[in-house]
This record gives sequence, C-alpha cells and structure tokens, in this order.
Amino acid sequence: AKENGRNQHLFFDHKMNEEAEQKASIEHELMLAIKDDQLVLYFQPVTNLKCHRITHAEALIRWNHPEKGLIMPNDFIPIAEESGLIIQLGEWVIDAVCNQLKLWQRVTDDLKICLNVSPIQMMHANLDKQLQASMTRCAPPNGSIIIEITENVMIEGPEKIKEKLDAMKEMGLSFLIDDFGTGFSSMRYLKKLPFDGLKIDRGFVANVDADNEKAVLVQAMIEMAHRLNLKVVAEGVEREEELAYLRSLDCDYVQGYLLGRPMPAEQFLALLTSQQ
Ligand code: C2E
Ligand code: CA
Ligand code: CA
Ligand code: CA
Repeated sequence: AKENGRNQHLFFDHKMNEEAEQKASIEHELMLAIKDDQLVLYFQPVTNLKCHRITHAEALIRWNHPEKGLIMPNDFIPIAEESGLIIQLGEWVIDAVCNQLKLWQRVTDDLKICLNVSPIQMMHANLDKQLQASMTRCAPPNGSIIIEITENVMIEGPEKIKEKLDAMKEMGLSFLIDDFGTGFSSMRYLKKLPFDGLKIDRGFVANVDADNEKAVLVQAMIEMAHRLNLKVVAEGVEREEELAYLRSLDCDYVQGYLLGRPMPAEQFLALLTSQQ
C-alpha cells in the first residue's frame, strides 16, 4: 500500500507538471494571439422588451486559434487573469469595441455595445487611460459604451471602486452589474455606486416560468431594481415561456439564444438592419 501511495504521489506530481506546462504554453500562445489578431469579438443581441427591438449588443470574445479553431472565453479568460495578460487582452477588447462602434455609426445611430471587464482589469491603474485613448481615437457616440462588471469587484471595498467608476462615468461610460445574484452580495452598494442596471444571471432565468422559487427571486430583483431606478436585463432566455413570463414581470431587456446567439459582426449588422 505504501508503494502504491508513492506511485500515486509521483503520478500526481507528473500530472501537475503537465498541467503547469500546458498552462504556460497556452499563456505564450495567447500572448502571440493578442499581437497577431487571432482574437475576435462576437456580438449577441440585447432586446428591449418595451419596443421589441435590438438596442444593445454584448461583445463576447473568442480566440480563433490557427490549429485548434474557435476557443471559447471560459477556456482562456481565467488563464489570462492569472497571468496578468488580461490587461493587454482587455485593452484589445476596448479598442475593438470602439472600432466597431465607429464602423456601425454609419449605419445605425443608437446601438450601444456592452463589454465585459474583469475585476482584475477594473482594479488596474491604467483602465481609464486605456478607455480614454481608444475613445479619443474612435470618438464613439456619447453613451454608446456600457461596461459589465460582476458583483465581485466590490470585495475590494466600495470606496476604491466608486472613485474609479465615478471617473469613468465622467467620460460618458455606463455600468451594468453582471451575473447579478451569484456573487458577493452588494445590495448596500447598489445605489452608492453609479450603476445603471443589472443583469440577472441565467441560472435564475432558466425555467423561471415553471419554478416558483426562481419566479419569486426574479420578481423581487426586478422590483428592487426598479425602485432603485435601475434597468434590468435578463440573461440566458432560451424559451418563449421564459420571455413571456419576464415580460409579465416588467423586465426591461432580454438576452439569450431565443433572441439570438453571439455572432460575428457582419451577421449582427445584417440582423440589426433587417429590423429597421
Ligand atoms: P457572461 O458575461 O455572463 O456572458 C454571457 C455568456 O452566456 C456568454 O458565454 C453567452 O454566449 C452565453 N449565453 C448567452 N445567451 C445564452 C443562453 O440563452 N443560454 C446559454 N446557455 N448561454 C447563453 P461566452 O461567450 O462563452 O462567455 C463566457 C464568459 O466569458 C462571459 O460570461 C464573460 O464572463 C467572459 N467573457 C467573454 N468575453 C469577455 C471579454 O471580452 N472580457 C472579459 N474579461 N471576459 C469575457
Ligand atoms: Ca457579461
Ligand atoms: Ca452574465
Ligand atoms: Ca458569467
């Protein structure tokens, strides 16, 4: 048994080394990917339930790997965060969003783009400078960039984050709380920080029409948000029944496969112009 235990130990050591090596290699490849333009933004429609029109797009990153094909963010964002590459990656995203807004400005005048900012990026000293540089270069329409951040940024303490958000708001940016209901509870700070709305995590949205517990929670979130003068986006809407139920709860916006999957920019533009 002892012998066996030792072998197992060696096995795990070996496995850990392999994992570390694999991670280091992905890190290296990702660094090249940022430089070589292997990253691409997909856009998912966000539909306003009042007028039933697409008013926003959420920008979602993909990695178009030369050999492995399209890699999804959950497979590389955590590595980017751990290695610090998220700062460069985030800068690329900001720039790409601004470029896209500039291009789309010629065809549509009131589309807004939501982009995801990692808590690590949020706490980085240069975020506002990065934003300012891209915005100066592309001059996106005022109010057209919305930043999504998860509740977890507030773990750092609301004072620190408030200063940052206030400064960015001055630049014309808006903020949504992403994955609302899943993270660090922030009720106390909801109104102290300059948020414009919240996105209810898709875990609450799936089967909201059939699951009484979820229905109670979602209704409470929407009512609370509205009393605080915040807009509500429901994420991950996949079924007509969910959509109808959310409408009955007076939800403001919906996003999900039912209304459109994340898609390349050209396809998104085609969808957008088909509704005009
Ligand atoms: P998220 O910000 O919560 O984005 C929503 C995710 O849900 C997206 O996954 C989207 O494709 C997926 N989704 C949308 N509608 C539905 C639906 O009806 N059903 C289901 N099952 N899923 C739906 P995606 O694109 O794989 O992104 C995963 C996460 O990666 C994002 O979660 C976000 O946290 C992160 N991410 C994506 N792009 C960026 C980025 O540019 N920067 C940073 N820092 N993070 C990003
Ligand atoms: Ca998001
Ligand atoms: Ca989300
Ligand atoms: Ca998420």
